[in-house]
Amino acid sequence: MALVQFRHSDKKFPVGKIVCLGRNYAAHAKEMNAETPEAPVLFLKPSTAIVHDGSSVVIPRFSSELHHEVEMVVVVGKSGTRIPKHEAMEYVYGYAVGLDMTLRDVQSEAKKKGLPWSVAKGFDTSAPLSDAVEKEHVTNPHNLDITLKVNGVVRQHSNTRNMIFSIEEMIAYISSIFTLEVGDLIFTGTPEGVGGVVSGDQLEAELESVGILRVGIQ
Ligand code: MG
Repeated sequence: MALVQFRHSDKKFPVGKIVCLGRNYAAHAKEMNAETPEAPVLFLKPSTAIVHDGSSVVIPRFSSELHHEVEMVVVVGKSGTRIPKHEAMEYVYGYAVGLDMTLRDVQSEAKKKGLPWSVAKGFDTSAPLSDAVEKEHVTNPHNLDITLKVNGVVRQHSNTRNMIFSIEEMIAYISSIFTLEVGDLIFTGTPEGVGGVVSGDQLEAELESVGILRVGIQ
């Protein structure tokens, strides 16, 4: 069973559902030739997609185009349905940095045919996750530098202030559709600069105040 582990405590949560936002940074929507959404674009990954710091992402045999997407991850600490925006932060337990690894060739094909993204986004090892920190360690989650390096070279660099939907807006919207539960994760979308990685590459994702996540590509 996948667990959320914490850097500063022995606390562990079993991972529940993983709700991901697409197109939550305008510059990324633009690079994907997609419109900036009026409501959050949501998709799910299974908890079996989680791997931790020091693990590998395994490219499935049926894909030849694996992309990195570095994202802030919100760890849900309290269950709720139809959570009002002004109460949303009470449901946040902490933060982590994650990678929404994406089979871009499979996703492009699915988009073309109007099919779901589950395979492109939810395959085994598609959700590397750092140790989390409790929210008390993060002064302002809407002002954190976020960076991804591949083999030591910066590929993605932005700040969570550039997110289109705030954490409060995401939680209010998501919980109007899916009841949120303790241990659920929200992958909050990636900034611009997504691109391909190949077997042997080393990825290092960093979120200010939260920490670093290192994974290899296999
Ligand atoms: Mg993403």
